[in-house]
Amino acid sequence: MDKAKQKEIQNQLAEKELAEFKKSLPVDENIFSRLFDFLDVELGEYGCDHTTILTKKFLDKNVVVNATDVIDWLENNGGGCDCEVLANVEDLFDYLNPPIKKPSPTNQIKKQKLNSLKTDFGFSIEKIPSPWILTETILGNDKIYNFQIGKSNNCIVNLTSDFPITQLDNDKFWADLWVKETELHYKLDDLTVEQIEFENYLAILVKTKNWTPVKIWCIRKSTKKWFLKMTTELSRHKDDIKELEKLINHIKTE
Ligand SMILES: [Zn+2]
Repeated sequence: MDKAKQKEIQNQLAEKELAEFKKSLPVDENIFSRLFDFLDVELGEYGCDHTTILTKKFLDKNVVVNATDVIDWLENNGGGCDCEVLANVEDLFDYLNPPIKKPSPTNQIKKQKLNSLKTDFGFSIEKIPSPWILTETILGNDKIYNFQIGKSNNCIVNLTSDFPITQLDNDKFWADLWVKETELHYKLDDLTVEQIEFENYLAILVKTKNWTPVKIWCIRKSTKKWFLKMTTELSRHKDDIKELEKLINHIKTE
């Protein structure tokens, strides 16, 4: 068989495979590429808690009526949790790339690692202590700063500057915020709010025995302009708090 003939057969096979793949999709293929973009951003901010909670949030937000079919389909294709959806399923849609992923300047995502940071809202760190890694994600006009421990994104500390903290001592405020951010609404009877004092910081820790996400809002006593929000997991949060303490010791005092 000559090369041209061989190539033609290969192309036909690939086309047939692609047609079958498209037929297996529970929703329009464009929904998937939007889901991947969404997960890219949300996982960067919240990390994966080994469920498909972010995927469900997206399907819910986009009123996908057969969301259960989509979740099942993702699972059958290697996407058992949100990070697996990105790691294993996104590649299956590579064929969409040229027409769909044409980046427009306004929603282009740029990500880079930083070795120091000084912001216009008074946050300043000259050296990032290991094992922390600081990344800057530029999303249109927004800049997102996240610290994470090593390569895994199970523990993320987000630097936030646009949130009014007015109810420091109100435990209910923090408990409600945890519910709002995790979107977990049931089995919350043992949701606890704890205050931890570090030298120049006050941290509010919210957790529950029934769910994985632990959230810690870490506020510098001398400023209301920014704070750190840590999202981690129940099984590791105690160790992560020690690392958080190391991290805040490197933040410059004004
Ligand atoms: Zn995961």
